[in-house]
Amino acid sequence: MRFEFSTARRIIFGPGVAEQIPDLVAGLGSRAFLMLGGTPKRFAGIVDRLVSRGITCETFRVAGEPTTDMAREAVASARGMTAQIVVAIGGGSVIDTGKAVAAMLTNEGELADYLEVVGKGQPLRKEAAPCIAVPTTAGTGAEVTANAVLSVPDQRVKVSMRSPLMIPRRAVVDPVLTHSMPPELTASTGLDALTQLIEAFVSNKANPLTDGVCREGLHRAGRSLRRAFENGDDAQAREDMALASLFSGLALANAKLGAVHGFAGPLGGMTDAPHGVICGKLLPYVMDVNVRALRDRAPESPTLARFDEVGRILTGTSTAGASDAVEWIADLCKVLRLPGLRKYGLSEDDFPTLVAKSRKASSMKGNPVELHEDELTGILRQAIN
Ligand code: NAD
Repeated sequence: MRFEFSTARRIIFGPGVAEQIPDLVAGLGSRAFLMLGGTPKRFAGIVDRLVSRGITCETFRVAGEPTTDMAREAVASARGMTAQIVVAIGGGSVIDTGKAVAAMLTNEGELADYLEVVGKGQPLRKEAAPCIAVPTTAGTGAEVTANAVLSVPDQRVKVSMRSPLMIPRRAVVDPVLTHSMPPELTASTGLDALTQLIEAFVSNKANPLTDGVCREGLHRAGRSLRRAFENGDDAQAREDMALASLFSGLALANAKLGAVHGFAGPLGGMTDAPHGVICGKLLPYVMDVNVRALRDRAPESPTLARFDEVGRILTGTSTAGASDAVEWIADLCKVLRLPGLRKYGLSEDDFPTLVAKSRKASSMKGNPVELHEDELTGILRQAIN
């Protein structure tokens, strides 16, 4: 057995820990580039407290999932103020942009030099500037992952900048920040975390350390996603989902993902669908096809027992198996009122391009079994409605 496990230098978790942000910033430098999401006013108090401690701050608003142009603009501003620290408070979009900026503060050249697929894909040479990542969704786990996802609108694709050198220095996970998420956002982001936990657990790069965090995360997401959707003020459910999201990030950064994420990059580039909706909508169909393909082509695969275990964890029933896991997730998606992907502009004409692009995606390589073209097309056919 061989594996590596990389993560943030410090992970600070708990209700109210966001109060520590000014102290954490002050411990890392005196020039901070603050990246905030759709409602920056919500964090005006933190900016005031930083300024009153003599920290020079510049704020940058990340509205929506980031494009390479937006990231370039943020990099230019951060370099312009010679920022020493990046503080990213928001959903995965804000945190990913923050991670890209922190990496470009210490590494020379242009963003395109380091982008996979559409750029030169050069490795980062220097550790990123300190980044404090504070998630407000639960979520992506981006506070502990080694990549930043950026979309390239003219090529209709989402790509990553990726290096263990860009894992945020501090991950500050305060579940209270997620209470304001409306049900629809709770649903889509929670399904992203659930997908990451399942795909990492059955991936061909899973290791005993990621297995442990996946089991714990699945248990918590299984008992709490629906509760958080139905009552956003359920503090216990919000705490479970914040942990599930964090654990999904720990797992995905150290094990690979699978076909859901193989599709998510191209689908996110070709449609307007939020990342979490794409994940949740594809998840039951991908699991079903994977289980069938394994039974057919690799019946001795130990991954089949893992799918059974997912069924036992999610349903809480000791006799449950893989098909119960698929059914449980399909039912959950109905309860969470997840729309079909046609709503976001996906059409049957896109299927051949999507299948071709997904087969080249790095996440597809973590899928426990290689899926055939007709199986991949079948998944899209089910997820469109
Ligand atoms: P998001 O960051 O795009 O936010 C979605 C919306 O929710 C935004 O309008 C935002 O303003 C709002 N919002 C955020 N927190 C809120 C809160 N507490 N209350 C109310 N509204 C709030 O959504 P996301 O799902 O967190 O992130 C998606 C992005 O993350 C995608 O680009 C995806 O590709 C990327 N991602 C990255 C990784 C990684 O490891 N780097 C993993 C998964 C996803």
